[in-house]
Amino acid sequence: MNPVNRLNEIRATVPENVKIVAVSKTKPASTIELLYNETDQRLFGENKVQELEAKHDILPLDIEWHFIGHLQTNKIKYIAPFVSLIHGVDSFRLISEINKEALKQKRIIPCLLQFHIAREEAKYGFSFEEAKQMLDNHLFYELSNISVKGVMGMATYTNDQQQIRAEFKTLYNYYQSIKSSYFTQEPDFCEISMGMTDDYLLAIEEGSTIVRIGSGIFGER
Ligand SMILES: *Cc1c(COP(=O)(O)O)cnc(C)c1O
Repeated sequence: MNPVNRLNEIRATVPENVKIVAVSKTKPASTIELLYNETDQRLFGENKVQELEAKHDILPLDIEWHFIGHLQTNKIKYIAPFVSLIHGVDSFRLISEINKEALKQKRIIPCLLQFHIAREEAKYGFSFEEAKQMLDNHLFYELSNISVKGVMGMATYTNDQQQIRAEFKTLYNYYQSIKSSYFTQEPDFCEISMGMTDDYLLAIEEGSTIVRIGSGIFGER
């Protein structure tokens, strides 16, 4: 089956109000172009700065590029001119560096706060306490050129559906709590990025508004 058919099959299972990021990492620009030409998919996700930059340079300008990987501060400048959402913000240092590059570009860069919800140590993200610490500090509110749109998280890599569901519930609770404590005046804080190929239906049941789907659309990497 080709990516166009796979995308259409996935779309049929995703409610209108949930956005699908087509995660095109490792896949050639020609495959993205195929989806672009044959569907109205305009939202694509990449996790490597150089790869994202290279694809952005040759593909249509109305593609919305989401950065979904771990972002190093010295590489922000390469994507700052065009990136439409950075999913993996997990420190004050990173978000303040994003703010600096956004200022240089005279842009507001949308971001999500990534939370560590999985059992694996290896996955990135704030703990709830760390995020609150950042949000309790006045310095956060001096970042004029970032806009925090919500939260992001990745569940443990496991077949245990109950475990995954519990982690998504945790992220949902973090979202609600942070929204009601810090973002009551900001209706744009409304996104929960959770769910990938194997767990997106579960994620949607638990309140996801953005699913990030790679292999389900593009095949195995
Ligand atoms: C690769 C990746 C995805 C997509 O994973 P699939 O299992 O291929 O759907 C989603 N989110 C992040 C952060 C990723 O790195």
